[in-house]
Amino acid sequence: MTARIIDGKAIAADLRAKVAGEVRRLAAEHGITPGLAVVLAGNDPASEAYVGSKAKVTLESGMRSFDHRLPATVSQAELLALVQRLNADPAVHGILVQLPLPPQIDALEVLGAIASGKDVDGFNPINVGLLATGLPALVPCTPLGCVHLAKTVLPSLAGLEAVVVGRSNIVGKPLLQLLLAENATVTVAHSRTRDLPAVCRRADVLFAAVGRPEMVKGDWIKPGAVVIDVGINRVPAANGKTRLVGDVAYAEASQVAGAITPVPGGVGPMTIACLMVNTVRAACAAAGLPKPAV
Ligand code: NDP
Repeated sequence: MTARIIDGKAIAADLRAKVAGEVRRLAAEHGITPGLAVVLAGNDPASEAYVGSKAKVTLESGMRSFDHRLPATVSQAELLALVQRLNADPAVHGILVQLPLPPQIDALEVLGAIASGKDVDGFNPINVGLLATGLPALVPCTPLGCVHLAKTVLPSLAGLEAVVVGRSNIVGKPLLQLLLAENATVTVAHSRTRDLPAVCRRADVLFAAVGRPEMVKGDWIKPGAVVIDVGINRVPAANGKTRLVGDVAYAEASQVAGAITPVPGGVGPMTIACLMVNTVRAACAAAGLPKPAV
C-alpha cells in the first residue's frame, strides 16, 4: 500500500484564497482592512526569511503588513515599548514577535505583553488558558494547521486514538487541546516516554513534532494511520548541500500509512496560512463582528 499524500501546499493555497475572500468582504461590508505587525529583533537569516514570507503572504491576502526591524542589541524596555505602541494602534489587529529573541531579552515577558486579542501566535498565557478551558481563543498556527490537514482525510476525529510526539508550548501542548476539542483520545509522548514505538503504533492519527530527523520509523505506524509530520530538519545531502527532512522516515512510513504529509510541502505552508486566518479572526473580534468563515 502506498499512502495518500496530504498536499499541504495546495491546501494552504486554498485556505489563503478563502482568507483573501474574507478580507475583501470585510473591506466591502465594514470598511476594515486587517493589519499584521511583525517584529524582528536581530538578523538571524532563518528568522529574516520567515518574516519576509509572512509579510509577502499578508500583502497577497489583501491585508496591511507592518514590518518592525530592531537591532540585535535592542533592550527589553525598547521592545516592550514597541509592543505597547502596537497594542494601542487600531490599524494593527495582529502582532507577531519572531522567535528566537536575542539573549538579553526575556521572551516570556514580551509574549505576555502582547494584547491577548492581537496575539495571533497564541503564545500569550491568556490565550493558552482560554484554549485549555475550551473558550474562544487565538490558537497557535502550527497546531491549527496540523488539525486542518488531518481533517482533510478524516471526516471526524471523534473517538480516534491520536498520539502527539512532542510536548512543546508551540506545537505539542496546543495540539493536545485542539485534538481533545475534536473528541479524539489523546496521548502526548516525549523524551521520557517508555516504548515510544508501541505508543505510536496505537495511533489512528499520529503527529510527530520532535525535531529529530526521520526518528519515527515505518514499523512504528499502524497500517492505514494518518501521519502528520511537523518536523523541519536540515540534513546533509549527497551533493554536499543540505536538504529538509521531517521527523518521520517518509519513504518507509508512506508504505504503511493511509495518508501522510511530506516535508517540505506539508505542515510548513499551513503555518503561515493559519497566521492569516488568525489575523482575520482577530480583526473581526476587535470590531465586534462574528467569527469569519475561515
Ligand atoms: P521542541 O524542541 O520545543 O520540542 C521537542 C519535543 O520533542 C519535546 O517535547 C521533547 O521531549 C520531544 N523529544 C525530543 N527527543 C525525543 C525523543 N527521542 N523521543 C520522544 N520525544 C522526544 O520542538 P518544537 O515543538 O518547537 O518543534 C518540533 C519540530 O517541529 C522541529 O523539527 C521544528 O523545526 C518543527 N516545527 C515546524 C513548524 C512548521 O511550521 N512546520 C513550526 C514549529 C516547529 P521533552 O519535552 O521530554 O524534552
